Amino acid sequence: MTVVAIDGPAGAGKSTIAKRLAKVLGWAYLDSGAMYRAVTVVAMDAGADLGDGEALARLAEALDLELKAEGTVLVRGADVTKRIRSPEVTAAVSGVASVAAVREVMVSHQRRFAERNEYVVAEGRDIGTVVFPDAALKIYLDAASTERARRRLGQSDEVAQGADQDAVRAGIEERDRLDSTREIAPLRPAADAWLLDTSKMTLDEVFEAVRGRVRSAIRP
Ligand code: C5P
Repeated sequence: MTVVAIDGPAGAGKSTIAKRLAKVLGWAYLDSGAMYRAVTVVAMDAGADLGDGEALARLAEALDLELKAEGTVLVRGADVTKRIRSPEVTAAVSGVASVAAVREVMVSHQRRFAERNEYVVAEGRDIGTVVFPDAALKIYLDAASTERARRRLGQSDEVAQGADQDAVRAGIEERDRLDSTREIAPLRPAADAWLLDTSKMTLDEVFEAVRGRVRSAIRP
């Protein structure tokens, strides 16, 4: 199993870069954030108390989740790809992802995914630190929050209608705060990660830089 781990905060370019890299290399793509989002959707649909860790853990354990190669996310066969990116789910997901038992279930799903697919590009918050500490290459993408908010505003259904850049930045900063201060698997670069600040780069430039790094780090 060979893994390229791409971690970093929201809006740093992880998804775009990880997807494109997986496509170019012909590797499998693992979007771990989509998994935490899927648990959040299921919990909201079940009317669960999002502060009840035990209830969330039970839902995570029973989760019938399928991640398709092209990025489609199915829960019990139903397509939730769009819903997992809704502003409501985006606002709630970090709370759900802070529950230890939820993380345990998700991490074992992620490791099984990598066992089934020999070559994997995986993105998230704790891929290099916790999920795949032996990843062949660990990359940590970062960018200033104003720039990340600008990117999000330009691209996404995650953003509420009519939201302005300040509101989006505040939402991103709050999610960063929750993700990086939680006790289990907080967002931080692995000690051996390659750090790239993408604030002043175009996505094409980021992609070329990452691809070059992959070429030199991983011998076929
Ligand atoms: O990457 P994305 O923005 O879709 O992730 C949504 C949320 O899922 C993050 O803000 C974080 O709370 C959680 N997450 C996590 N660990 C991961 C991936 C995502 O805690 N490996």
